Amino acid sequence: MDLNLQGKNVLVTGGSKGIGKAIAKAFVDEGANVAINGRNLDDLRRAQEELGGNVSIYQADVTSEQEREQLISSFIKDHGSIDVLINNAGGSNGGKAEETELRLFHDAMELNYFSIVHLSKLVLPHMKKAGSGSIVNITSLFGRESGGKVTYNNAKAAAISFTKAFADEVAPYGIRVNGVAPGAILHETGNWIKRLEKDPEGIKQFVKKEIPGGRFGTVEEIANVVVFLASEKASWVIGATLNVDGGQARMNF
Ligand code: NAP
Repeated sequence: MDLNLQGKNVLVTGGSKGIGKAIAKAFVDEGANVAINGRNLDDLRRAQEELGGNVSIYQADVTSEQEREQLISSFIKDHGSIDVLINNAGGSNGGKAEETELRLFHDAMELNYFSIVHLSKLVLPHMKKAGSGSIVNITSLFGRESGGKVTYNNAKAAAISFTKAFADEVAPYGIRVNGVAPGAILHETGNWIKRLEKDPEGIKQFVKKEIPGGRFGTVEEIANVVVFLASEKASWVIGATLNVDGGQARMNF
């Protein structure tokens, strides 16, 4: 299927590692002009080399309001427009609610929620001007049900809610907003590899019990769905957050 993404200007936040890097690779393979963002410059450079193509890099911390503004203005200055924004940067902190400082709840919201809200607002005038655009927010299965850290669950749930609300608001301008909610994805920099190394038998049992597909997901399996959602082949998908989780979500059963 030709996704018709050749020459599209694409920005992937958190694109130097894991899921974000695989998403960037999938867009490169489609012939898009891809830019990746992250905080660590060495990691960005490594990913840029690995991804080849015409990938550009933008060092910015998406938890900083000022750096988010700088990121989008630099991207627009360099590319002239933005066709696709993938809000992928995210992560978890803290533990049980009782033991977690309030500050960490704020931090989790800044990284997993406010960054999405603000970056989406910042690209909006550019996409409106073009009369088209696509935003895909990487949330989590744990934004829909318990299982992850509480700070993370809260922030991802808010991101899923924003995806729907913002999609309704901007659809009349030809802009589609959607999300992907991954289940447990195994890759070299993610949390699951650390948990697997620490407790191989426990994690093996977890996979057997919790994931009907019988294994962890791969970063490519997330990326495939993201590029499809971002493309015009998904023109009638608006405000959806798709679970990509090997059946791990129990919500529809
Ligand atoms: P990862 O391996 O930890 O990579 C995170 C990426 O985001 C890196 O490129 C990192 O680069 C960047 N990043 C982190 N904080 C940032 C910040 N403040 N500003 C800018 N960039 C930042 O994570 P992942 O497993 O690929 O996860 C990617 C997304 O999928 C996240 O939103 C995560 O919540 C979601 N997800 C993952 C799983 C899973 O099983 N892996 C499951 C469900 C959802 P720097 O550190 O250099 O900034």
